Order: sequence, then C-alpha cells, then structure tokens
Amino acid sequence: MTRRYNFCAGPAALPTPVLERAREELLDYRGRGLSVMEMSHRSPEFTAIAEAAEANLRTLLRIPDNYRVLFMQGGATMQFACVPLNLLGGGGTPNYLDTGIWSGKAIKEADHLAGSHLAASSRAGGYVDVPASDRIALSADAAYLHYCHNETIGGLAYDYVPDVAVPLVCDMSSSILSAPLDVSRFGVIYAGAQKNIGPAGLTLVIVRDDLLGRALPQTPSLLDWKVYADNASMINTPPTYAWYLAGLVFEWLKDDIGGLEAMAAINRRKAATLYDAIETSDFYSNPIAPANRSLMNVPFVLADEALNDTFLGEAEAAGLLNLRGHRSVGGMRASLYNAVGQQAVEALVAFMGDFEQRHG
Ligand SMILES: *Cc1c(COP(=O)(O)O)cnc(C)c1O
Repeated sequence: MTRRYNFCAGPAALPTPVLERAREELLDYRGRGLSVMEMSHRSPEFTAIAEAAEANLRTLLRIPDNYRVLFMQGGATMQFACVPLNLLGGGGTPNYLDTGIWSGKAIKEADHLAGSHLAASSRAGGYVDVPASDRIALSADAAYLHYCHNETIGGLAYDYVPDVAVPLVCDMSSSILSAPLDVSRFGVIYAGAQKNIGPAGLTLVIVRDDLLGRALPQTPSLLDWKVYADNASMINTPPTYAWYLAGLVFEWLKDDIGGLEAMAAINRRKAATLYDAIETSDFYSNPIAPANRSLMNVPFVLADEALNDTFLGEAEAAGLLNLRGHRSVGGMRASLYNAVGQQAVEALVAFMGDFEQRHG
C-alpha cells in the first residue's frame, strides 16, 4: 500500500498513525466487541471518548475554564448563520472584516439575517493582504467583530489579532491547531473539522460562557449554542465517529508531535520550503503580501497558464494529489495542513523544479 501526498484543501489529509489506529479499532473498539460507529452516543464508552477528546483539545489550546467547547454539525457554513443568531439577542449591529471568499460568505449570511457593518476590507487591493489594524472602524453599536483568520482560497492570513472592545468572533476552519493560540482574546472561535481536526461532519465551536444565552428568540434549538452547552453537545445524535477520529487527532498532536509549539515549528518550515521555491523561480508566483502569506494554503500560478493541465497531470503521476486551485480562482494551491509532512513539501518542490526545467 502506498499513501500518496495529499494537498487537498478539504476534506484534507489525516495523519497516517491516526488512520492506522482507527483501522486497528474499527471492528472491535478496545475489547468491547463493536465499532465506535455502532455505539450509542449515550453509552459510557462513547461518553468517555467524547470527554477525552474535549480534555485533550483543552490541553492543546490551553482553553480557559470560562470557555465552552461545542461539538456541532453543519460545517463552518452553518456557523455563518449561528454567529448572528446567537449574538444579536441583545441588539446591536454585526461588524465584519472582509478579506476574501470565506469572510464574504459569512458577511452575506449576516446581511440576510440582520444587516451588517463592514469594519474594514482588503477588496480594493485585490485581497492580497489583510486590513491594517488601524483601519478597523467599528460601528457605534457593534455587537461583535467577525473575521476569518486564514482565507483558505486566497491563501492569506492575519499576522495580528484585532484588538477591539466588542466580542471577537473568528472563523479558524483552516488554521486552528496549526499553532498555539491565546483563546482568551476571543469571544467565539469556530472551525469545520475537515481541514485540521478530523473528517467532515463535525464542527468545533469554542465560546466564552458569558456569550451564551444571547440568541435571537427565533433561533432554532439545533442552532443555539446554549442548548449544546447545556446538553454536552448531545441534544440529538452527534457525529460520533467524526468526534472519535478528532479525538485521535488531538492525541496525535499532543503525544506524537508534542503540542502546538512543536506543530507550529514544523508548519513554519514546511511553508518556508514552498514559498522559497516559488520566490526563487521566475516560473511560479504567489501574489500575497509576504507578511500575510498563509502557512496552510499556498496558491501559486505558472508563468504559462496553458501548462496548468500538464502540471496537474504530471504531479498526479508523481504521487502529488489535489493541487488544482479553487474553481473560483484557478491556478494551483497546495494545502499544507498539520497532517502534510515536510517530506511531502520537499517532494512537491522537487517536482516543481523538475517541471520548470522541462517546460519553463
Ligand atoms: C472550508 C471553510 C469553510 C466552509 O466549511 P464547511 O465545513 O464546508 O461549511 C468556511 N471557512 C473557511 C475558512 C474554510 O476554510
């Protein structure tokens, strides 16, 4: 069996040791004689799995005690609606920062539900950087400020945490667990699982407890964070297998990698390897301002776009999968999430060098 290098933006690569462990436990979970997929979510076995996953996540991210961790479904996209629904019960205007496609989708959903105020945008420059902190202009009645830490499609990330007097809400779908994080700076952090956490179907929400209970009255209970917090995220059947696999990923990060400082060092080296290769070539280019280059998603274009399909075909034949850029922007994109190793990046860079020599 050969596992190939997977640069998919999501659902993304999972650590091989995690999949091996899941395979070992697939038919008979630790002598129970059944699969995790076949367990009642209310059983003592699954309760232990669920609680251990949360405990390990809390350790990894050093989540303070006054924050609740919710295990939801619906993806980050469902949270685009949950954010205004859960935070506007006390009135006020939702404020947003705009840095590209994902923050734009969050804004659209807030507009649909409540109307929003654009506190800053990097659209005029073509989304090649993030707004400077001193350009953030909140509305007088701001209920919260929402931003997307890492724009997965554009390949840009904030190099600072906005410092505002209202709750800060962050979509961290494609960057959570890639580096240490000061959770106490945030009111709410959310992330779909299928990039850096586990398989699709699970969504993490980390919310400061004083922000619970502020939902708009029409909020459906399945979208209400407080209902999840009050019911250990089990109001209905949760995505049990995805939750279990996320727990295995948290254990891998903690015990095999050695925590998020160690993970961040690995991620910085991976990204530097690829960006250096792009920088030192006249054939490949990346448009993002150096300070805002994403460590997780690296878009690049070839000097001759007519070679795109040849590049992708040859890459696939060389065992390098899923390098096609998002359908809305074209070009290439290499996603370097936690489960993608230095070796994968070196294989990609070697392939790129070889391709440039033959076609450049
Ligand atoms: C992938 C992604 C989303 C959408 O996630 P779904 O789970 O498909 O809803 C939203 N925001 C960011 C930053 C993403 O990377």
